[in-house]
Amino acid sequence: MACAGPAGGRQRVSMQEHMAIDVSPGPIQPIRLISDYFPHFYPFLEPVLRAPGSQAMLAPAIHSASHQQPNPEPEDSDDSTALGTLEFTLLFDADNSTLHCTAHRAKGLKPPASGSVDTYVKANLLPGAIKASQLRTRTVRGTRGPVWEETLTYHGFTYQDAGRKTLRLCVCEDSRLRRRRAPPLGELRVPLRKLVPNEARSFDICLEKRRLTKRPKSLDTARGMSLYEEEEMEAEVSGEERGRILLSLCYSSQRGGLLVGVLRCAHLAPMDANGYSDPFVRLFLHPGSGKRSKYKTSVRRKTLNPEFNEEFFYAGHREELAQKALLVSVWDYDLGTADDFIGGVQLSNRASGERLRHWRECLSRSDRRLELWHLLDSVPPQLGD
Ligand code: CA
Repeated sequence: MACAGPAGGRQRVSMQEHMAIDVSPGPIQPIRLISDYFPHFYPFLEPVLRAPGSQAMLAPAIHSASHQQPNPEPEDSDDSTALGTLEFTLLFDADNSTLHCTAHRAKGLKPPASGSVDTYVKANLLPGAIKASQLRTRTVRGTRGPVWEETLTYHGFTYQDAGRKTLRLCVCEDSRLRRRRAPPLGELRVPLRKLVPNEARSFDICLEKRRLTKRPKSLDTARGMSLYEEEEMEAEVSGEERGRILLSLCYSSQRGGLLVGVLRCAHLAPMDANGYSDPFVRLFLHPGSGKRSKYKTSVRRKTLNPEFNEEFFYAGHREELAQKALLVSVWDYDLGTADDFIGGVQLSNRASGERLRHWRECLSRSDRRLELWHLLDSVPPQLGD
């Protein structure tokens, strides 16, 4: 029953009560007016509704809201050159093995069918696993000329990467209504071999339509991935690498032992159906036994570029430790099932290349701290003999 006032059957309401009734969603008298206040919640009351099943349920309400004011920017053209432009700056910081991409702004974006003007910039390094190198800016809402001024940083970016990778930047719509991700409003690609190390370079480039590559049939039934994500997997099957890890080593004469820093990982292989992993790192000093030889970091959820910054300590004489091997492995934490191995690396006197150099330089003298990136092997580090 409706709220019967103390006046009994008479329906006299003061102005204040009237306002209260109007904004209340309860089953109170002038109920038919409420839809005027909440048109989005009652799309079935809209007389202009299209055939059921066409577009999303909420789409008609959006259209009725936006057609009231004429489009201020008459740039609607089918010409693919009219997708807008993106201004950004790239800097390959070779000393720190980082690539910085600063997204400044976009101009003249063509609005998608949904009418949304909420956008962000997404970056990927190709070829390689798409999610492993995916970074994005925050979303800027309500404008076709978004200004992000946000820097995205790739850690563990080497000369080798610069020589063979391409940076893809997409301007994407961040619609609150769509559950599936829409195709980007436009994209562009920059071959990174053209960058001069340690020299910032600015770009102002026209966005193009997305280039689609046929995905392998084996991926058609990819686990729980939306249609568009499957399309994005283009170069993912190359399986080229499991990722890389930044480790620091230092023999501390003061503490009488080896300090091992697990700083961060980059471009890890995705192990979960959501396209990410929940990485953590295990350390094992071999030969060794008991708790003092094994450590692990905390778990970082849903990321392929985790930052750990955790330090562990192995007591012992320098010469003695130098004869051992440090086995480092990166794992994907899984609740309820066995964790998945992502990749590993072994530092010892029997290793080669950078792994050997890192071990030797830090255990041949005291108090010398060295940070190095190491590529991860796809097989667990062997215990040796
Ligand atoms: Ca997991």
